[in-house]
Amino acid sequence: MSSDDYDFLFKIVLIGNAGVGKTCLVRRFTQGLFPPGQGATIGVDFMIKTVEINGEKVKLQIWDTAGQERFRSITQSYYRSANALILTYDITCEESFRCLPEWLREIEQYASNKVITVLVGNKIDLAERREVSQQRAEEFSEAQDMYYLETSAKESDNVEKLFLDLACRLISEA
Ligand code: GDP
Ligand code: MG
Repeated sequence: MSSDDYDFLFKIVLIGNAGVGKTCLVRRFTQGLFPPGQGATIGVDFMIKTVEINGEKVKLQIWDTAGQERFRSITQSYYRSANALILTYDITCEESFRCLPEWLREIEQYASNKVITVLVGNKIDLAERREVSQQRAEEFSEAQDMYYLETSAKESDNVEKLFLDLACRLISEA
């Protein structure tokens, strides 16, 4: 089997405020690295990781934002054809949580109405600096009909689970 063979291909796009850990989550999952090394921004459009789920080869094309989120200049093309969105905030940064409705408006405006959105509260290794309770985030995600997961890109907590659960959901809805 060549490395190009796969049963499913999904495009996953990470969004959320600058600094919440999107690039670190992608690097942790695709390369097993933290911190991501020179400069936080990947500088390529996407990274690929192929995973196997129930014997199916699932190719994940994971799009990070190369700093555009700072200027609110993420374009429609970025959302277009995304099968899933990982909307990330930082549990130690209230501001990143308060911006979520703005991101949801963008999703509604630009993404497919079939897109699967996961809300991720990152940096749980910094529990002593937590500003957003798990309960508050769960209530918010339930109201918005999103899955919710808390992660640490630094400690590798729930990062595999995030992407593998998402791949499972994508397969089941494909
Ligand atoms: P992005 O702007 O959303 O891509 O955020 P980055 O991935 O560049 O991360 C922003 C900062 O948060 C960097 O200093 C990272 O080292 C740090 N960071 C990212 N994820 C975690 C995490 O899970 N725990 C901790 N403690 N720091 C993190
Ligand atoms: Mg980044």
